Amino acid sequence: MSDPDCLFCKIVAGEIPAEVVLRGDRVVAFRDIDPKAPTHVLVIPVEHLPDAAAVAADDPALVGELIAAAAGIAAESGDAGGGYRMVFNTGADAGQSVHHAHLHVLAGRSMTWPPG
Ligand code: 5GP
Ligand code: ZN
Repeated sequence: MSDPDCLFCKIVAGEIPAEVVLRGDRVVAFRDIDPKAPTHVLVIPVEHLPDAAAVAADDPALVGELIAAAAGIAAESGDAGGGYRMVFNTGADAGQSVHHAHLHVLAGRSMTWPPG
């Protein structure tokens, strides 16, 4: 199902442009419009599900597909060796601003704290 009011459903449908890096039957990935790292890709289910917990409840295999897609994107962009971060912001306190589940893939700089 898709939600006509959802930004990421509109990106899946091609109604809003995005730099798509992967398009599958169940998973789509595109570059974040406001990147927080040299590589910042959002991996999302085609189906409108509000957050990662809903994906896990609805279709656990789809969580694995999102993570496998993220790993493939990191490998393709040359980031797998240096490492990368995968983040599912879930809910208001985590800063989730788009309520269509999305896996952030961040790479290309150190994200350790303290930096080193
Ligand atoms: P959240 O804060 O919900 O975890 O992440 C939402 C992400 O979507 C943010 O990193 C934000 O920059 C990104 N974003 C918001 N609007 C758009 C858009 O129209 N296009 C793209 N490509 N990314 C977007
Ligand atoms: Zn949606």
